[in-house]
Amino acid sequence: MEFVDLSQRVETVRANLASASGGKYPVPKLIAVTKTHPVEAILPLQKLGIVDVGENRTQEIVEKREFLKENFQIHLIGRLQSNKVKYIIEDVCLIHSLDRMSLAEEINRQAQMHEKVMPVLVQVSPAGEEQKGGMPPEAVLPFLREAAKMPGLQIRGLMAVMPLSHDEQYLSGLFADMRILFERLRSEAVQGVAMEELSMGMSGDYLLAARHGATMVRVGSAIFGPRA
Ligand SMILES: *Cc1c(COP(=O)(O)O)cnc(C)c1O
Repeated sequence: MEFVDLSQRVETVRANLASASGGKYPVPKLIAVTKTHPVEAILPLQKLGIVDVGENRTQEIVEKREFLKENFQIHLIGRLQSNKVKYIIEDVCLIHSLDRMSLAEEINRQAQMHEKVMPVLVQVSPAGEEQKGGMPPEAVLPFLREAAKMPGLQIRGLMAVMPLSHDEQYLSGLFADMRILFERLRSEAVQGVAMEELSMGMSGDYLLAARHGATMVRVGSAIFGPRA
């Protein structure tokens, strides 16, 4: 893709985000999802002021690690197997996809071995699609209370992947539910939890997400074009 096209797409996403959040919420941070794209395609994002990139596979992070680390902050946004934590713990700034206690325990263990505290988001499944990852909304508070005790983790908020749907009303309801859950958990003020980030919204629905108070959106194909 030509640089001008990339630049235009990024500007469009930014302009949409600014208008969608409409003054009610701060404009969410844009995470450019770079999965499947080679380093040559990703590098120009730097000139456009993109700081944060999202990848969903540990193997791909490992392959592109030197390049990505040198130029960006890496977010892990995809499903994470416990036995892969050790490969990426030094590379990523935030794990968005913490969805079970066994994974929390492994992140905690690896973080302590690497003498760091790993920032994480708890993935929630607002539509009850647990096969996509994410715990049911009612499971989050008890989970927070347990995981907050782990010294190698810092829980910084929530993440959700919405179902594929063109029904705006249905999706709006789910985004609104996520924002309510986020605020309710924030008011619980669980000790050791900083409930500050709400990662939701992808290329198809980032406008709705921004309208409902996402603090981070994860946008791939609206920037790079459809995946092959
Ligand atoms: C791929 C992916 C995205 C970005 O998807 P697009 O539709 O290309 O914007 C966002 N979040 C997660 C978890 C993903 O795997």
